[in-house]
Amino acid sequence: MICGMGKHTVRFRCHSCGHCCTDVVCLPTPKDVIRIARATGLHPKKFLEFLTPDEISEVSASDPTWLECDGQRYIMALRRGKKGCVFLKKKSRRCSIYEHRPILCRLYPLRIQEDRKGKFKGFTLHKSVGCPRYRDGVVEAAPLRKLYIEDCAHSDDYNDLVEAFNRDRDPAKKPKHFVKLFVKKI
Ligand code: SF4
Ligand code: SF4
Repeated sequence: MICGMGKHTVRFRCHSCGHCCTDVVCLPTPKDVIRIARATGLHPKKFLEFLTPDEISEVSASDPTWLECDGQRYIMALRRGKKGCVFLKKKSRRCSIYEHRPILCRLYPLRIQEDRKGKFKGFTLHKSVGCPRYRDGVVEAAPLRKLYIEDCAHSDDYNDLVEAFNRDRDPAKKPKHFVKLFVKKI
């Protein structure tokens, strides 16, 4: 069944244009970081960076995942080079960690719609994310909803970790120390 709201399906097909992996900053959750580190054997410092508000204008000042230290705010992101995400393969321009990619990458460019009481209404496509939003395919909403619920649970855990980090008043604290709160030993 196809309905306008995207309760069961959303009209969309990814045409692998590469925009999202090249131009969009990906913000993983701590659980994403652990999964990627385990799968790749890489220490998170190899694939993470911490951006200041000047370096990422898309995240609002009220976002609960801003880390505070040095009198500055930072947000955890996948490291990027001139040609995009650190996990983008140079020649094929494909994701090298596709099976383990962050939830944000799995949901892009889809956006959940909720009613005033926060009840699930359906999925639609984000308007302002830069994806060409091709409508020539059909995406099932049920697995997306499962992912979204998983993402919410990740977000709660993430926010708790950020709160603990921001409570720590150690003057030697650096943004990279945030990773120590959830990565003990990979
Ligand atoms: S921007 Fe859209 S069409 Fe392009 S690769 Fe990403 S999801 Fe696919
Ligand atoms: S992790 Fe993979 S899917 Fe996500 S931005 Fe990087 S290359 Fe793209």
